Amino acid sequence: MKLLVRGVTVVDPATGIRPHTDILIEDGVIAEMADFLPSGDAQILQADGWLCAPGLVDMHVHLRDPGQTYKEDIYSGCRAAAAGGVTAVACMPNTTPAADSPAIIREILQKAETADARVYPVAAITKGLAGEEQTDFAALKAAGAVAVSDDGRPVPTAGMMQRAMLDARLEGLSVLSHSEDLSLVRGGIINAGETAQKLGVRGISRAAEEVAVAREVAIAGAENLPIHICHVSTAGSVAIIRDAKRRGVPVTCETAPHYFSLTDDLLVTRDANYRMNPPLRTAADVAAIIEGIKDGTIDAIATDHAPHSAEDKADFETAPNGVVGLETSLSAGITWLVNPGHITLKKLIELMSANPTAILGVPGGSVAVGQPADLVLFDTDTAWTVEPDKLVSKSKNTPYAGKRLTGRVMATVCRGKIVYELGE
Ligand SMILES: [Zn+2]
Ligand SMILES: [Zn+2]
Repeated sequence: MKLLVRGVTVVDPATGIRPHTDILIEDGVIAEMADFLPSGDAQILQADGWLCAPGLVDMHVHLRDPGQTYKEDIYSGCRAAAAGGVTAVACMPNTTPAADSPAIIREILQKAETADARVYPVAAITKGLAGEEQTDFAALKAAGAVAVSDDGRPVPTAGMMQRAMLDARLEGLSVLSHSEDLSLVRGGIINAGETAQKLGVRGISRAAEEVAVAREVAIAGAENLPIHICHVSTAGSVAIIRDAKRRGVPVTCETAPHYFSLTDDLLVTRDANYRMNPPLRTAADVAAIIEGIKDGTIDAIATDHAPHSAEDKADFETAPNGVVGLETSLSAGITWLVNPGHITLKKLIELMSANPTAILGVPGGSVAVGQPADLVLFDTDTAWTVEPDKLVSKSKNTPYAGKRLTGRVMATVCRGKIVYELGE
């Protein structure tokens, strides 16, 4: 099977910008790149004037499968990924049952074989994510897990986390930390501050996140063990991680688009689609997140795609946390990071493809001969309005409903096949 992608400008984190390029794909691999290539018997994807980057790798996604497939399943989640230019997702283990056994990891991988994106399972650190007994990392790795996490819940003690980091390194698994100290959350549902006071709801202190980030960084530094911090949302977390990196601590971290684009004053609408964990913070935090992205403190942008049904999200105070994000992440990055001049497009692609692949130890992240043919084709000029009903995901709980975004995914190629075309 051959596919010829015609006339793109390649944006590659390693090699930079390359205009007027034809890309020939054979058997799922990039076979040739040149100014002009004859089509021969290849299928042609006319892409003149479009940008072409390595397929995005979203290292923090909840596919809800098994157990909550009315919110999302592996196939619908991967279709949503394809619509957002995402060709690989790391899926979190807080499913029902939890992804804490080799059998469930194998089941996820088997389903994902025919899905529209690659799926990298993240296995639970503790059985049932109960924070008590560690899972069998060697068996989970052998079954195909790429990382471990109890995402949705913190690992309760520093001692358990230290052992998990040690065992994970021995098995070649990344550790992804949901950094939250539950003893500081105390029923809070949004950021502690003016908005929480106005609404008369309990706030979540920044300290709930920062205490836990500091704990993971302390272990990583003292034991020289790598740690990846999920969904960084506060100025304090950015400062802790920046300092740790300067001291040579092997820490990496991600943030999500909502933390560099939205603030907690939106919650005065009492719309649960602005509620996620960690919560939206203030303009000062948003500025610090952007500064962390600019100076390399923040390594990756991941969505924490967390689908919930309209019924789940109906009541502001009792709704579960989380927002969908796969279909808006690239546009959000272009709209709030590239267009205002904070970072270049090449840097955005690095944060969304090359860096996550490096942290997870998986292939991809480059448009080059011999690389997997996972590509996102997009432009940076088309403006569009986010209409929840038009999202591909089973769930519509986007925090960007009605927002005007710039930059649009035109087509997505995964494993050498066109898995998404705008308007098709
Ligand atoms: Zn989390
Ligand atoms: Zn999550």
